[in-house]
Amino acid sequence: MHYPEPLSKLIDSFMKLPGIGPKTAARLAFHVLAMKEDTVLEFAKALVDVKRQIRYCTVCGHITDRDPCYICKDERRDRTTICVVQDPKDVIAMERMKEYNGLYHVLHGAISPMEGIGPEDIKIAELLARLQDETIQEVILATDPNIEGEATAMYISRLLKPTGIKVTRIAHGLPVGGDLEYADEVTLSKALEGRREL
Ligand SMILES: [Zn+2]
Repeated sequence: MHYPEPLSKLIDSFMKLPGIGPKTAARLAFHVLAMKEDTVLEFAKALVDVKRQIRYCTVCGHITDRDPCYICKDERRDRTTICVVQDPKDVIAMERMKEYNGLYHVLHGAISPMEGIGPEDIKIAELLARLQDETIQEVILATDPNIEGEATAMYISRLLKPTGIKVTRIAHGLPVGGDLEYADEVTLSKALEGRREL
C-alpha cells in the first residue's frame, strides 16, 4: 500500500507498539490525521515526557518522576516490611489492592538461566544493601508464580537465611505460570494474606 511518507512513518511507529499490526496501525494513523493539531501536540509531548521525566527510584527501583518515589518518602508506611517484586507494574498492581502498607523493592527481572540472566543482572545486591538497615523485619517475596519467579524467590530466601530476617512467599492462589501484574485484586490480596514463611 502506498501512503505519503509522513503517514507511512507514523504507521511504522505505531507498529512498534505491542499487539499493533499493520491494519490497526493504519487505522490509528488516520485517526491522528483527523485529530486537532493541539491534541496531536499534547499527545506527542506526553510520549516524550514519559521518556524524559520518568526514572527509577534510587531506593526501591519503582518508576517515578521524583526521587525517592512517593512510596519510599511516605512516613506513614510500615518501614519494617519490604515486598520484593519483579517489575514496576507489579508495584502498581499491589498498590491498586490498597491492603499492603509496607515498602517495595523492584528487582527489574528474574533469574533465568535459560535467558542467561543471573543474580547479578537484577537488583539483588541493592536489596541486600537496603537490608543492612535494622528496621526491616520481614521480606515478602512476591515474584511471579512461574519458574523464573520461583527460582528468584528461592535464591533470595537462601541468601537471607543467615540474616534472621523473616522471609515469606506470597501464596499460590495466583495462577501458576502467570504474571503478578495481571492478577485481580481479590486474588492478589488472598495471596498476600496467605503468605508462608520460607
Ligand atoms: Zn522508591
